[in-house]
Amino acid sequence: MDNFGKYSEENLAALAKAKEAGKTIAGLYCAFAPHELVMAAGAIPIGLCSTRLEPIGAAERVLPTSLCPLIKSSYGAAITGSCPYFKASDFIIAETTCEGKKKMFELLGEWKPIILLELPQRTDGTYALEWWVSELRRCQAWLEERMGVKVTEEALRDTIRTMNRERRLLQRLYSFYHEDKVPLSGVSMHTALLGQVSPVDHQAYATALENLISHLEERVELGLYANTEAQPRILITGCPTGNGSDKVLRLVEECGGIIVGQESCNGIKTASILVDEEKEPLVALAERHLSIGCAVRTPNRARFDLIDRLVVQHKVDGVVDLTWQGCHSYNIESYSLRRHLQERHGIPTLQVVTDYSESDTEQLRTRIAALMELLDSRRESLSPVSL
Ligand code: SF4
Ligand code: SF4
Repeated sequence: MDNFGKYSEENLAALAKAKEAGKTIAGLYCAFAPHELVMAAGAIPIGLCSTRLEPIGAAERVLPTSLCPLIKSSYGAAITGSCPYFKASDFIIAETTCEGKKKMFELLGEWKPIILLELPQRTDGTYALEWWVSELRRCQAWLEERMGVKVTEEALRDTIRTMNRERRLLQRLYSFYHEDKVPLSGVSMHTALLGQVSPVDHQAYATALENLISHLEERVELGLYANTEAQPRILITGCPTGNGSDKVLRLVEECGGIIVGQESCNGIKTASILVDEEKEPLVALAERHLSIGCAVRTPNRARFDLIDRLVVQHKVDGVVDLTWQGCHSYNIESYSLRRHLQERHGIPTLQVVTDYSESDTEQLRTRIAALMELLDSRRESLSPVSL
């Protein structure tokens, strides 16, 4: 874990070094962003979604206060100059995901050059793949012209392998949570994995992941665990979280649960899907993007399928569905998810609608503690009666 603390500092140092060396930095905001394409063009892709409360005040001078905190924080971090990654970015690659982000990008275009890719809204039908491949081609042409380079198929295949390797390592990390006893709390794992949003040096990030895996294997061998078998096993789903917006995760573990998985963009959602290395690269990239279960698309079967898998594999007792205030897509989907989890798995879901501030922390603690009590009592009623 110490290595991961150091890793964030090293990542910033690597960013400064890359800038000095004249490398191009591309700012990205979403799991649908074409990282591999950016890397194949010779640029460094960096995730810019902000998870801190501080920039929101500045953003609210321009954006409606009712907007999702992730959008406000990201915009505020950009315009206040408080995000070194935004400052370092030469341009932005964005997608038409939710309404709020789409309109925020119009304003962000006043600060940096931006290309907005039109993400298909429907997940059914054949048009989506054709359309998204054509958008990726448009992005490739834009990158080539802007950077004066040619993206070769070989370079693209190479970056696809690099990213797939990282995803496989992340999958290995998540597999520790298949077991009854886990070597690292979900909150610590969340901190460790934040690097997946914006590693400057992918080799260094892969090495850090490998070291973490070895460390956890050692802990398992020594019998050092972060939970007891009596603790309720919780799956987090919903909107993305990060440093500074992890209060719900902390509360789950403070109230006695153990987080055994996070089905969101900074969790297993994106790492669970690889790019097919055998197919034509842009088509394979597009297929992977369109398999990501995000509530901005409809119908969102992929999210439910992944959650079904996680509930079984990770032996989940209950789900906490985190919705950022103002996020209509995830908020509306919460109803169907709750019903689905009850009908299919017989497990309860607690939806938590909140923002980045700490003002509702104690209120949330009461609700999350009530979920833990419910899960405890269900476990007790299922345990064999001792005679
Ligand atoms: S939740 Fe959806 S829109 Fe938000 S970052 Fe993830 S994929 Fe993109
Ligand atoms: S959390 Fe919801 S509203 Fe906020 S950026 Fe993501 S999809 Fe949009």
